[in-house]
Amino acid sequence: MGDTIVVKFGGSSLADSSQFKKVKDIVTSNDKRRFVVPSAPGKRYKGDHKVTDLLYMCHQLASHGLNFDEVFNLIKERYTEISRELNLDVAIEDLLNEIKLNISNGASKDYTASRGEYLNGVLLAAYLGFEFIDPKDLILFDEDGYFNQDITEANVSEKLEGVPYAVVPGFYGANKNGEITTFSRGGSDITGSIIASGVRASLYENWTDVSGFLVADPNIVADAMPMDLVTYRELRELSYMGAPVLHEEAIFPVRKYGIPINIRNTNVPLDKGTMIVDDSTPVKYKGITGISGKKDFVVISVEKTMMTLEKDFFRKLISVFETNDIPIEHMPSSIDSVSIVVQASKINHKLKKIIEEIRIFCNPDNIVTYPDMSLIAVVGRGMIRTKGISAKTFTALEKADINTRMIVQGSSELNIIIGVENKDFEKAIEAIYRAFY
Ligand code: ASP
Repeated sequence: MGDTIVVKFGGSSLADSSQFKKVKDIVTSNDKRRFVVPSAPGKRYKGDHKVTDLLYMCHQLASHGLNFDEVFNLIKERYTEISRELNLDVAIEDLLNEIKLNISNGASKDYTASRGEYLNGVLLAAYLGFEFIDPKDLILFDEDGYFNQDITEANVSEKLEGVPYAVVPGFYGANKNGEITTFSRGGSDITGSIIASGVRASLYENWTDVSGFLVADPNIVADAMPMDLVTYRELRELSYMGAPVLHEEAIFPVRKYGIPINIRNTNVPLDKGTMIVDDSTPVKYKGITGISGKKDFVVISVEKTMMTLEKDFFRKLISVFETNDIPIEHMPSSIDSVSIVVQASKINHKLKKIIEEIRIFCNPDNIVTYPDMSLIAVVGRGMIRTKGISAKTFTALEKADINTRMIVQGSSELNIIIGVENKDFEKAIEAIYRAFY
């Protein structure tokens, strides 16, 4: 199926009948677009409701024995309106009534939430004239709620073999007892990736309401440039810090086969969007790929002369964080000191206790805590082979009068992580961006 394109459309791309029309134009303009993965209807305008949120609300009310007619009617209106405006021959009212009855009778939270995608899939399949394939028969979850990649992939290959065109709703599958199970929120991106890997597609197009990624957060750099090309690994480094456009687990299924993902804009279909490609793709540019960051970290700096000679020093130090259930983000070190970087929200209420335990177990010469720190990741796979990237970055920070408090060269050699004070966060991102663009 090497020439097949799998297309996933997000909630805003399928929020009403006029969005459905755009989707049909996109799908039918290229006959390689054979498998379509829809989300549930999203917001039509600011302040509108996402159908998935309404479904969760229905479940919540029903589980307390409360009447959920009013919320369910909002859902009903969304689907009946789409069906009516597109003249679809679908018994949508019957399907809605059946779902409502199931929710009243105690259907699970995952089943309830998944109906958003299910119904949108039924409507979209009818509108496109494609076969409807229920992912409950394709995507298998184990008892812990993780999807089983091997069995799922085999199912997808087998069941879609010989199917020319189909709609497969996103977001859910089933466990081995046939109970509907969902991914985490935004999980239709993962479904698209699974289908693309199962049919060994040549491309996975992910259609949303932005024309791909930007080099920096537009809330900080208003005129940030679009990102044309990014590798899976670079994207991991960037999304780990900033708000992702794509569900962060969505790259794994396609990455296994090197299938590229193209982020596209349903409302501006001529925009090329961002291509997410295999890590081995040669670098053509001499700059950086993107800048992202996050505020509110705490750095705990532990000093102890000759600590590297104490074989169990690091183990003891790390176990203090482990036993207190606090994930460590970074651990830059020098000969007689090591800094532990953790998210403030994860440690604030335990900070005193942690410091006390480090004192007892590690017997350091000194411990200094730096609150209110931000981390900024400057990412680019070209940077190890390009002179001057760090010089440019740090000169820009100096010119903007920003004190760099910490520098970590990521071991992937794809990024430099820079610690600055929270108050300098936005200024630092803007300064680095301007140095390269
Ligand atoms: N509809 C689900 C959500 O809102 C899944 C998705 O849109 O990908 O999270």
